[in-house]
Amino acid sequence: MADRKPQRIVVAGAGIAGSLIASGLGGKAGVEVICLERAGADDHLDAGTGLNIGPNAIKALKAAMPERAQAIVDNSLAWQRWTISLTSGRPLMDLALSDVADNAGIRIRWAELYALLRKPLDEAIRYGAELLSCGRNDRGLYAVYRDGATGAETRIDDIDLLIAADGRYSRIREHFLSREEPHFLGVCLYRVLFPAGADCPVEDYGQWFNGPNRLLAFRVPGDFVYCAGSFPIEDGLVTDEMKTPQFLRGAYTPEGGELCAEAAYLVREIERNVDRIHWARLQDGTTRFDAGEGVLLVGDSAHPMVPTLGQGATQAVEDACVVVDEVRRALIAGNPLADVPANVSARRTERAEFVVSFSREATDTMLAGADPVAGTLKKLEPAFRSRLERLYRDVSVPLS
Ligand SMILES: Cc1cc2nc3c(=O)[nH]c(=O)nc-3n(C[C@H](O)[C@H](O)[C@H](O)COP(=O)(O)OP(=O)(O)OC[C@H]3O[C@@H](n4cnc5c(N)ncnc54)[C@H](O)[C@@H]3O)c2cc1C
Repeated sequence: MADRKPQRIVVAGAGIAGSLIASGLGGKAGVEVICLERAGADDHLDAGTGLNIGPNAIKALKAAMPERAQAIVDNSLAWQRWTISLTSGRPLMDLALSDVADNAGIRIRWAELYALLRKPLDEAIRYGAELLSCGRNDRGLYAVYRDGATGAETRIDDIDLLIAADGRYSRIREHFLSREEPHFLGVCLYRVLFPAGADCPVEDYGQWFNGPNRLLAFRVPGDFVYCAGSFPIEDGLVTDEMKTPQFLRGAYTPEGGELCAEAAYLVREIERNVDRIHWARLQDGTTRFDAGEGVLLVGDSAHPMVPTLGQGATQAVEDACVVVDEVRRALIAGNPLADVPANVSARRTERAEFVVSFSREATDTMLAGADPVAGTLKKLEPAFRSRLERLYRDVSVPLS
């Protein structure tokens, strides 16, 4: 085997899935890993907001890439509780994650997470490199990228494994499968990060409802609070009027007019930071890992999902752990990497489809006309609890 040329892996996108896969495979004998990232090396350093990553991602990462898991846990806050209340203060749910998971999740800022994931890869990532096109010809798979600084276009041929880690609007998925129109759920979701300040009453992961209008917030390291607000948009559009402080205050203020301490604090900070809000709409799509021999989809390109259960990045981590394991197995067995997409698909599709549909169903309390009290009571029942346990505990942990 010593005279065989290394198999070439191209990873498009150094986001969550791509950077973990590239670091998990970097330095392995028998492979050459090229990672293309459209953004510049410093572009994501001030990436605006925060996220929570589920216990299942940490469990998978501890098994597959323990040093990466440790670095992330050391630089984040533990996600240990999930509370749900009304914005008036009436408590509806107080769940200890230890009741449904084997370990805690984490809370972190995006900028910190990107820095941690990319740190071991500084040499391996080609920043400012946007994949423009890709395909298959008689020599095999190829990809063309443009250098953002010089405008030069470079073609990479003889690719054994092309990994689409280029997110929700994946060019690779579009080329090898087809463009898929997203399925919108009729909910506006916006995010903002701000300094916690001395009077901050928000700590671990909490949600506050006024009808279907929801505030979600938690602290992240660096003494910041991450807040994601939402409200239904019946005609599917987020209008300028909805982006005003008056509309947002009105959306969360209960009929009696009294907000509890946490909701009052969040509404005040939303008003203060209204110009820095990132606006989005809830959407998901179909799951697909295998895009033909040697073409693998991962993360959002494989399974776009709504972020209701905080599982988008979480599942991207689970994907990465399985991909690294499958490539490792193929190399040990001397098998071609062209089969990796089918193998990953066999291990991941059922799980990813479960998470996509569970996330969509858990969005019930955020839809127009929803009753958060009745909806949250359902989340206290054994059926929901056992699905949460499946979500948080049943990771397809790679066996090395
Ligand atoms: C409002 C909101 C809140 C969310 N909150 C959470 C949360 O709390 N927890 C959670 O787990 N998930 C959350 N998510 C989901 C999460 O953001 C995504 O699921 C996750 O980032 C997917 O990871 P990925 O690696 O697939 O893609 P990404 O992280 O999107 O990375 C894709 C990378 O590819 C690069 N790229 C794209 N196109 C090209 C190209 N042509 N050439 C080269 N590079 C390219 C991009 O620059 C980027 O770096 C949230 C999403 C939204 C919208």
